[in-house]
Amino acid sequence: MSIPYLDLTQQYKRIQKVIEPKILSVLASGQYILGPEVTELEKELAQFTGSKYALAVSNGTIALQMALQAIDLKPGDEVIVPSFSFFATAEVVTTLGATPVFVDIEEKSFNIDVSKIEAAITPKTKAIMPVSLYGQISDMDEIMAIAQKHQLTVIEDAAQSFGALYKNKRSCNVSHIGCTSFFPAKPLGALGDGGGVFTSDPELFKKLEAIRVHGQTKRYYHEYIGVNGRLDPIQCVVLREKIKFYDEDLNKRREIGFAYNDAFSGLKGLVAPTIKSDRNTVFAQYTVVVENRDQFAKDLEKEGIPTSIHYPLGMHEQPVYKHMNISLPVTEKLSKRVISLPLYPDMPKDHVKKVIDAVKKIAQ
Ligand SMILES: *Cc1c(COP(=O)(O)O)cnc(C)c1O
Repeated sequence: MSIPYLDLTQQYKRIQKVIEPKILSVLASGQYILGPEVTELEKELAQFTGSKYALAVSNGTIALQMALQAIDLKPGDEVIVPSFSFFATAEVVTTLGATPVFVDIEEKSFNIDVSKIEAAITPKTKAIMPVSLYGQISDMDEIMAIAQKHQLTVIEDAAQSFGALYKNKRSCNVSHIGCTSFFPAKPLGALGDGGGVFTSDPELFKKLEAIRVHGQTKRYYHEYIGVNGRLDPIQCVVLREKIKFYDEDLNKRREIGFAYNDAFSGLKGLVAPTIKSDRNTVFAQYTVVVENRDQFAKDLEKEGIPTSIHYPLGMHEQPVYKHMNISLPVTEKLSKRVISLPLYPDMPKDHVKKVIDAVKKIAQ
């Protein structure tokens, strides 16, 4: 009756024959941490993004934390982040004892409103961390110009945008450091946790490499405070296979996303996502804006269409940050109205049609 929101088993079936023997040979090799599969994946990730260096790490959250550690973020420092994101974006700043400074988003793109960044900069600001939400990169030219003027580092939270383009540059290669996630439900997903850190700066890369193994530059010689951020070779086998057809997957995602956009363009009860003309998106989520979200979700559920909410609160409204007592009207408005529809590369055509028909009926 009901279609799935996301079915990851379809993709597993596609790669099963190729990856299972490779995983078995990792198991037989005795090398379970780092090693050749990791190094090869890193080369392929760097090549795919155009970034000079890539580091495979254990998840997207640690990727962001490592980026902040690499720029020596300290207690008292501030990092500018959009309030509308997955919690990890701000969490890592607080983990390191620094303060996230929440900035409102642009209604159209759901991404940080660049016109509000400069007002948030203080002498304590160390970095700007734009999030490429739902798979669309922020206004990077403007952000990089502001950063240069104030001598700040820009770290792209690219957990949802791996493979996206901004003026012919790939996500993870549009700022000083790019961080992504290979969590199974992300566009490029492993069969477990995983992540990546990207930079074209050789000094930063060397430091990030050390930070991944406890700040170690030689065995048992610790130059920095680091983390255990290693990715295991089994996940690398999976990612190396998936990256081979990742561009095809992204095209399938876009095909579905733009079919939704076309079908929904005339509807009064819903605003479909806007993709700016100088970039594309990977539709990590296909998220629309509706006035009465609860009713819309209930009506869709009756039609057998599951939905999801990314995210129900701005981070500044979360219990742990509420004491900051700030108001960001666009974030607050959209977090009450956004709702995501099923979209994944292996989604059957009749499911896509079912979503379109149901939404058109409900949101006329
Ligand atoms: C998923 C996500 C993260 C965290 O990635 P994990 O691999 O789950 O740790 C960070 N930021 C954003 C925007 C995300 O969507």
